[in-house]
Amino acid sequence: MQIKPGIETLAVHAGHPLDPGTDAVTPAIHLSTTFARQSDGSYQHPYDYIRCTNPGRDNLEKCLCELEGGEAAAAVASGSAATASVFLALEPGAHVVAPRDAYCGTGLLLNTVFARWHLKSTFVDMTDLNQVEKAISIPNTQLVWLETPSNPLLKISDIAAIAQMAHQVGARCVCDNTWATPILQRPFELGADLVTHSSTKYLGGHGDAMGGVVVSKVKDEFFERIRQIQVGMGIGNAPFDAWLILRGIQTLPLRIKASSEAASDIAQFLSNHPKVKRVYYPGLAEHPGAELAARQMLYGGGMVSFQVGSREEAFQVAGKLQVFTSATSLGGVKSLVEIGALMESMHNLDTSSVETVIPDDLLRLSVGIEDVKTLIWDLEQALS
Ligand SMILES: *Cc1c(COP(=O)(O)O)cnc(C)c1O
Repeated sequence: MQIKPGIETLAVHAGHPLDPGTDAVTPAIHLSTTFARQSDGSYQHPYDYIRCTNPGRDNLEKCLCELEGGEAAAAVASGSAATASVFLALEPGAHVVAPRDAYCGTGLLLNTVFARWHLKSTFVDMTDLNQVEKAISIPNTQLVWLETPSNPLLKISDIAAIAQMAHQVGARCVCDNTWATPILQRPFELGADLVTHSSTKYLGGHGDAMGGVVVSKVKDEFFERIRQIQVGMGIGNAPFDAWLILRGIQTLPLRIKASSEAASDIAQFLSNHPKVKRVYYPGLAEHPGAELAARQMLYGGGMVSFQVGSREEAFQVAGKLQVFTSATSLGGVKSLVEIGALMESMHNLDTSSVETVIPDDLLRLSVGIEDVKTLIWDLEQALS
């Protein structure tokens, strides 16, 4: 192409070749577990066995490389599988620095599965660079894990500054970009080495597919380890899920724009509502990370959290909502509300070493693509 395509064009075209067998415009789903050999034992196409390779999974990986601006990607069974494959690729005895308010499944993996394999982790407030500085000076720090905006308080951490600090001690910087997506935030351009996603959320976008991905800025030896883990452990994204996620990505830019615009109006509405104690949204001027968010994100995103005064009121408001469905997860076309008090128990999290600071009167909204008037009407009636 003579022109550098914009991300909206990449979302539609990247990893969407015409079907080589039929010229079908929309990619096929290949469910076949195995592929035929030639008479000399070789393969005509780069496919042999489903655990190792799959045409749809390849297409999804190509698409995600182009969207994030990386050289290599591994599409896996879930966001948690993506997270785990990065930790598994570290050297034994490695030390990992992670946010205190990391996605609860990430904290859980570090504290249980990987702690048993002598992976050490230090949890810090990623918005406090002094804490990061101190933690990375611990010997054998191989990885700094970032998640911004964070869950559920939408804290914003400085990707460029933290990546630079990680590199000073020879560690990799990984950014879980699930919430922002490549539409809002470009971690590689800010210095991150790897990007992970739960494709179950915005990438798939319709609440009907599970997946995850690790994208690497460079196709290096560390990425080869992740590929070995994907193939060797059989955690590749299943063909049907990969197909749904690739389809979902085509509308990602439009969905993110719609959700962000609505979320911004909703955050404004909530911050003016007398029943609401506090609103967490990086697009609001009073948010402590607003200035940083304006620098490293295109807009504020589709997630809004707010406090309503008490645990009982949080349950009452969630129960009265008619358009928002009370359910966990996020990033789909349908708006959801999650009750903060229920978030930790969901994952059976041992919170002894992760300082999860979720206020028990918190509600977290995943704003979908319904019209904002209806969504605000719904919140208004539930809060009254
Ligand atoms: C949901 C989520 C994950 C885990 O993804 P799964 O697909 O549920 O395994 C990881 N990180 C973030 C930020 C998430 O929101």
